[in-house]
Amino acid sequence: MKRTTGQDRSRTRNWRPATRAVRGGTWRSEQGETSEALFLTSGYCYDAAGVAAARFAGEDDGMTYSRLQNPTVQMLEERIALLEGAESCRTQASGMAAMTTALLCQLSAGDHMVSARAAFGSCRWIVDNLLPRFGIETTIVDARDNAAWEAAIQPNTKVFFFETPANPTMDIADLEFICGLAKSHGITSVVDNAFCTPALQRPLEWGADVVAYSATKMMDGQGRVIAGAVAGSAEFINDVLLPFQRNTGPIIAPFNAWVVLKSLETLDLRIRRQSANALKLGEFVQDRVPVILHPWLDSHPQQNLAKKQMDDCGPIFSMVLEGGRAQAHAVLDALELIDISNNIGDSRSLMCHPASTTHHNMGPEGREAAGVYEGMLRINVGLEDPDDLIEDLDRAFASAGL
Ligand SMILES: *Cc1c(COP(=O)(O)O)cnc(C)c1O
Repeated sequence: MKRTTGQDRSRTRNWRPATRAVRGGTWRSEQGETSEALFLTSGYCYDAAGVAAARFAGEDDGMTYSRLQNPTVQMLEERIALLEGAESCRTQASGMAAMTTALLCQLSAGDHMVSARAAFGSCRWIVDNLLPRFGIETTIVDARDNAAWEAAIQPNTKVFFFETPANPTMDIADLEFICGLAKSHGITSVVDNAFCTPALQRPLEWGADVVAYSATKMMDGQGRVIAGAVAGSAEFINDVLLPFQRNTGPIIAPFNAWVVLKSLETLDLRIRRQSANALKLGEFVQDRVPVILHPWLDSHPQQNLAKKQMDDCGPIFSMVLEGGRAQAHAVLDALELIDISNNIGDSRSLMCHPASTTHHNMGPEGREAAGVYEGMLRINVGLEDPDDLIEDLDRAFASAGL
């Protein structure tokens, strides 16, 4: 294996984002392949016993076992680190494996964590159910309320955990304020950046310590694989995250890593076009529904903050209908082009009713408190012609009485 220029940090650091997305992290075998190779191997052989010993002693750079290192996986990790502007990155089997690893690797019994109210359903399950079982205390705050973050800090607060924009309420958390507050108290901020990806929002530039991803979403972007990633300082990744990850093993399969690696080459193109389509659809939808939650529209109370920290609106927005679950389901059932699906970031337009799917487990009171209303619909706008999408929505709205 030869490292190409994509592996030489002193050169890649100067590359602009589009170049990093296509070239970053590339290794080439002696075959000189143009496209990155897929290494489906669980182990590695050594030329001599002494080489094996040197590798296990950490005196030789080579690989020993694919739970610990794999060339295809390392190419992906290097490319994500470059896009995020992070010193280091490690990938996991899913977004939830990434969140779990990013939190459990640094929290211990007796610690306290502050977490955002509006969050991906499984993230809330970890905060509400898993961490307390291990003696980790959690406080839930409204992520939009800067004073609430400050008020929630205790002497044993170790971590702030939030996503922005939040799923599915499109709440925006103030990255600069919250991450700055964390820093000044020695608290580690962990930001779930699945909605934006580094193509639209780089939390580390606003002072975040750790960024965690579902790479299943915009990074794959074509609805094929489940994947996750955590990026941060070399010290955090090597000293805090890696001992946990190497020994517990929530690693990504090389095939899935390869799919995401190739997808990163088109991430910026896809997310820019999907954002443009999402803005066009939002402008159509706002005249038809009582409430639209879209960070780029004037009706969003945090539009200025969104525009400060995001480069574009991203593919996702939500709306709330007056007719509750029945009317929301009626819209979904009348769609002909847009699919009923709970995935996001896909190049296909997908729509779902969070209260009966992704946020079903929270129960009615939990949903009400988290702002996930019965009449809420969330849409992921894809790469289709936006006029076809508008026609489909127009027909579905009309048939549901809107
Ligand atoms: C999808 C998602 C996750 C979980 O990722 P998986 O890849 O499905 O495990 C976490 N956070 C957010 C914001 C998500 O959208």
